Amino acid sequence: MKLAEGIRRHGFRTWYERELLQSHAHLALSFLCLIGIFAAVEAAMRFRGWADQLFDIFATLLLVATGLWALRRYLHLLHHAELAAHQAECPQCKAYGRLQLLQADDSGEYVQVVCRACQHVWLIDNR
Ligand SMILES: [Zn+2]
Repeated sequence: MKLAEGIRRHGFRTWYERELLQSHAHLALSFLCLIGIFAAVEAAMRFRGWADQLFDIFATLLLVATGLWALRRYLHLLHHAELAAHQAECPQCKAYGRLQLLQADDSGEYVQVVCRACQHVWLIDNR
């Protein structure tokens, strides 16, 4: 979910928490794919026929592709969540995460926010 949409729907802290949970779910998926790769490679080492061998190779390739996609998605989500989190502290009163969305650009990643504590306005660049 884009930063602007997340702040608008759930607030910054909940958006951040959800992004971290989603990114770590992708990390868990990549770990499960790694276990599946080990199992498929071990199964491929025992020759039982060409059909089984092709299935094992196909399963290995599918698990490698899924695991790499999940790992990439984990890093992407974590990077964006941390990038926003490092800019979520009010420059004036140092309140963390107590912000409200004012406006955003079309991409939803460059947002103007206002502090709920002191009404200071600043920009968060999450591109
Ligand atoms: Zn403030």
